[in-house]
Amino acid sequence: MVVLMGTWSFLSSFSFKLWRYSWSRVSVPWVLVWLLIFAALPTLWRFLKRFLPHETGPKKTDYISDSFFGVHWTWSYGWRDEPSDIAPFCPMCSTRLVYMMDPFDGPTVLHCETCSRNIRKMKGKPHFIQGTIARQIERRLNSGEWKQVVETDAISVK
Ligand SMILES: [Zn+2]
Repeated sequence: MVVLMGTWSFLSSFSFKLWRYSWSRVSVPWVLVWLLIFAALPTLWRFLKRFLPHETGPKKTDYISDSFFGVHWTWSYGWRDEPSDIAPFCPMCSTRLVYMMDPFDGPTVLHCETCSRNIRKMKGKPHFIQGTIARQIERRLNSGEWKQVVETDAISVK
């Protein structure tokens, strides 16, 4: 009983001190206060966005795979919502394709190690090819075709 009384006394004293501390005044430069407020705004906005009414249906960020030039591609989105980590996959067996580069600046071959066959030859180095695919993704996003692709993928997954 004595232990319980001691614990209660400690907790009430602690919560009282916490309450007083929370409402006590501190003297810091206003620039620091505003800096902290502005630093917290993005986090606050992300939290509050959940409670705002939003569109139902597919979101642009659901569009993360498609077929271009006879190859299946997947990607994610970067900080500025640009497609990143663009990767080619075999349309037959879904194995990640290997970029086989020509040492004399010829086309790059997308090769499937599982099927042991070349799936597609494309102009440029892998970085250039990924740029080509990023532009195709951007085209589908701008034209609105992406919604149909997302809905078709959702149906095929079910
Ligand atoms: Zn394959």
